[in-house]
Amino acid sequence: MRVFIKIISSCVFGGLALQANAAVELNGELIQGALMRAQVQPGTQVFLNDEPLKVNAQGEFAFGFARQAELEQMLKLVYPDGLTELKPLKLKTQQYKIQNITGISKKIMKPDPKAQARAAKDSKQVKAARAQFTASDAFNQDFIWPLTGRISGVYGSQRIYNGKPGTPHYGVDVAAKTGTVVVAPADGVISLSVSDMFYSGGTMIIDHGYGVSSSFLHLSKLYVKQGDVVKQGDKVAEVGSTGRSTGPHLDWRINWYQMRLDPTTIVPSMKSVMAKSKVK
Ligand SMILES: [Zn+2]
Repeated sequence: MRVFIKIISSCVFGGLALQANAAVELNGELIQGALMRAQVQPGTQVFLNDEPLKVNAQGEFAFGFARQAELEQMLKLVYPDGLTELKPLKLKTQQYKIQNITGISKKIMKPDPKAQARAAKDSKQVKAARAQFTASDAFNQDFIWPLTGRISGVYGSQRIYNGKPGTPHYGVDVAAKTGTVVVAPADGVISLSVSDMFYSGGTMIIDHGYGVSSSFLHLSKLYVKQGDVVKQGDKVAEVGSTGRSTGPHLDWRINWYQMRLDPTTIVPSMKSVMAKSKVK
């Protein structure tokens, strides 16, 4: 049994206790781009940098640190009895790669107004799916890779398209043949399933609850539709090269609401997973 000890430490600022061992359990690495899962005593209110977080009945919740997140973050816990504790979080800086991509068609580099309107509509739809709140506890599961293979692109890298710097890459790319099956990394509800988005081609979003979602881009086939419930390991789609893509791969993204996070912060390393499958 875990015991939550509430002792007001010797340093008190403005009536708030600043404690090194606040009663919060963190699951995740304190680094830019990380998705964190955490637990407090049920009934505790939690604030991240003064923004209230949604906490489930078991005291579990999720939050994230953006690509360029401030290195000083503050969790505030307000216990059912009103006692408030501050838990400062010190993040590590993440190093990001620069990658050159050539051979993108002019049509996609310089979309015509019609295509731009389409892309804007796509983006609105994606944002709406990620804004959704679902009271599912799947976010707290041990996530699995949606497929295994060579990692051909990493989170946070800045891509230079035909010599022009683009927005950073926010997914992890796994190279695989078109038609390779993609599975759900955790339980969830399909919050978006569209076969032909302008940039991302076949696109699927799985809502894992409490703001945590997975997105799959460039799919060639989508097996499930919006509203479908999936279990971890269920076959949901096939790898493709649709949209702005230079070859077949899965681009897997993890979001906490609109915040784009690094999927590799919540799964075992690809190396270890592939070594295990070889032993079998
Ligand atoms: Zn990608």
